Amino acid sequence: MGRIFLFMGIQGAGKGTQAIRLAEKLGIPQISTGDIFRAIMKQDSPLGEELRAILNSGRLVSDEFTSQMVKDRIAQDDAQNGFILDGYPRTLPQVEHLDQMLAERGEKIDAVLFFDLDKDEAISRLANRRVCTANSNHTYHLIHNPPQQEGICDIDGAPLKQREDDTSEAIEKRISEYVNQTFPVVDTYKQRGIFHKIDARQSIDDVTRTMMEIAEK
Ligand code: ADP
Ligand code: ADP
Repeated sequence: MGRIFLFMGIQGAGKGTQAIRLAEKLGIPQISTGDIFRAIMKQDSPLGEELRAILNSGRLVSDEFTSQMVKDRIAQDDAQNGFILDGYPRTLPQVEHLDQMLAERGEKIDAVLFFDLDKDEAISRLANRRVCTANSNHTYHLIHNPPQQEGICDIDGAPLKQREDDTSEAIEKRISEYVNQTFPVVDTYKQRGIFHKIDARQSIDDVTRTMMEIAEK
């Protein structure tokens, strides 16, 4: 049976940065609901437009639609040996949806990795975040993790940009959604005995080391 990891933590805690490393190491996909929505947003369709309005304002997408996207994604071939969920579940109804999906598949969560970072540092990281225009998994930080050549992705040479929702207004809204909706989710998983808290203030490589130790257990 595959291995299933949930990545949780405030915006900017480094979930995406670390998920790509663990996914590569274990040969399982990193599934980010934010990435799924951003891909749909690029389409010139009513749904794309609707999602763009929601994401750019920093609000959450509906639980039903989000869970359906996850259900479809984990049904794909590459997710049959496990996967990392990055940014899902974020609300209590989504926790229930996920429990039900996994029960139907006869699977369970191996570990919940909670990347712990204070709000001020989170806001500062988001303001300095730059992402690759060709692959949003390639993430940089202007000070802590700059690209070799300014404004250009090290991996595929595409230009870097700021995410459309990394404006101070949308950041504020996303963080308040996190506190209101996702704190209770964190508390739920704390009680399940599969919860691991990681100090996300460490350097990127130190966080990776801590994460790998947990994943190898
Ligand atoms: P999340 O997916 O949790 O929102 P990201 O992985 O996108 O977070 O990281 C947010 C920003 O912080 C990016 O600019 C990233 O390069 C930077 N970053 C990630 N981890 C660290 C770290 N341990 N120390 C300093 N900066 C980091
Ligand atoms: P962040 O965590 O920095 O806000 P993500 O890339 O994880 O960024 O998500 C971007 C946006 O996609 C969120 O602001 C929200 O609108 C939507 N989204 C992502 N995951 C979920 C989820 N599990 N439930 C509802 N909306 C979500």
